[in-house]
Amino acid sequence: MANATTPIWQQRIASANQQRQQANQWRRRRTLASAQAIEVEQDGRTLLNFCSNDYLGLANQAGEDLAKAALQWGLGSGASHLVCGHSSVHDELEQALAAHTGYPRALLFSTGFMANLGCINALTQRGDLILQDKLNHASLIDGALLSRADFQRYRHLDYDQLQRQLEQRKQEMALVVSDSIFSMDGDLADVARLSQLCQQQNAMLMIDDAHGLGVLGQHGAGVRDHFDLSAAELPLYIGTLGKALGGFGAFAAGDEATMDYLVQFARPYIYTTALPPAVAAAMLANLERMKNDQLRLQLHDSIRYFRQRASELGLNLMASDSPIQPLMVGPETDTLAISAALEADGIWVTAIRPPTVPEGSSRLRITLTAAHQSQHIDRLLVALDRHVPAEQRL
Ligand SMILES: *Cc1c(COP(=O)(O)O)cnc(C)c1O
Repeated sequence: MANATTPIWQQRIASANQQRQQANQWRRRRTLASAQAIEVEQDGRTLLNFCSNDYLGLANQAGEDLAKAALQWGLGSGASHLVCGHSSVHDELEQALAAHTGYPRALLFSTGFMANLGCINALTQRGDLILQDKLNHASLIDGALLSRADFQRYRHLDYDQLQRQLEQRKQEMALVVSDSIFSMDGDLADVARLSQLCQQQNAMLMIDDAHGLGVLGQHGAGVRDHFDLSAAELPLYIGTLGKALGGFGAFAAGDEATMDYLVQFARPYIYTTALPPAVAAAMLANLERMKNDQLRLQLHDSIRYFRQRASELGLNLMASDSPIQPLMVGPETDTLAISAALEADGIWVTAIRPPTVPEGSSRLRITLTAAHQSQHIDRLLVALDRHVPAEQRL
């Protein structure tokens, strides 16, 4: 227990930790002893994995590409892109990503979190307005909190409210930011409507397609293609390489002037070490693998199959056509209990709790991938049927 001689910072840490534990919101890391896959080893047990964002099963496919590239490029990039860390494989990857997503140019960032912080802050200044969906990813919210611009949120997918906010604004410059597929809910923003609104209201639109790239659109081109928008109609696109692309890193895509501008003004681009070149090379290999439509067919078949069977069991799935299929539970304790029971049956599904999601909306975030076979999904359904209590069913 803290006392008068305990420094204030120690008291703060102890009390925050204690509070989080008491609220059943304590998070802990799980340590894998095997590569990212459908079956993973943990504490000497094999678990069937329904938590990863490796939607196409590509995370463990590029080991050889990475090893080969590492023999040529070594490990470190040596510096930031603007100092001496930018290499020809970075260029190649940027060109391939731009071509694939349908943009004139792409710009690599070291992570999606940094791409979001960097773009929002480079593009806004004091006297501007940033508008965001309430359920946007933490990196987008933090990007706005870091900016000197005014910041308002609109209710999840409430574009009437957004329209009023845009119409009534006093600020000349407005930036509208949204996830495409929402990371904890699995539903999809109406990016066509957002695009139209932004054009009518003279606002810039930025979409974070972390969960859409590789999943939506022709050959996995992402959300712009899914809604059949031109690059000009969705002027700032963010993609990440750590999800369906099964690697690490991120990029922004847009027109030449915007990408040039970000190189000049996006601080998380400028002041960080460039992605290892061997990773960029391995990402090029995974981008080719990602274009295989068979993977997407398999993934979307699995999603349909799971939803159909889950609804027969009366499971309270949230409305989602994406690989993210959350099962709403509510209280933290119940969510943790179901997650633990599933784990005892060898099934791994993470319990997502506040503050990641709003109070009272704890859920099991089930994710499906192209590597899941119907027998895996059947095992999940049997376990859910055993462990989700009747009062949690529809
Ligand atoms: C994962 C995620 C990010 C962060 O990307 P990283 O490359 O993992 O830093 C950003 N936005 C959304 C919506 C995400 O789900």
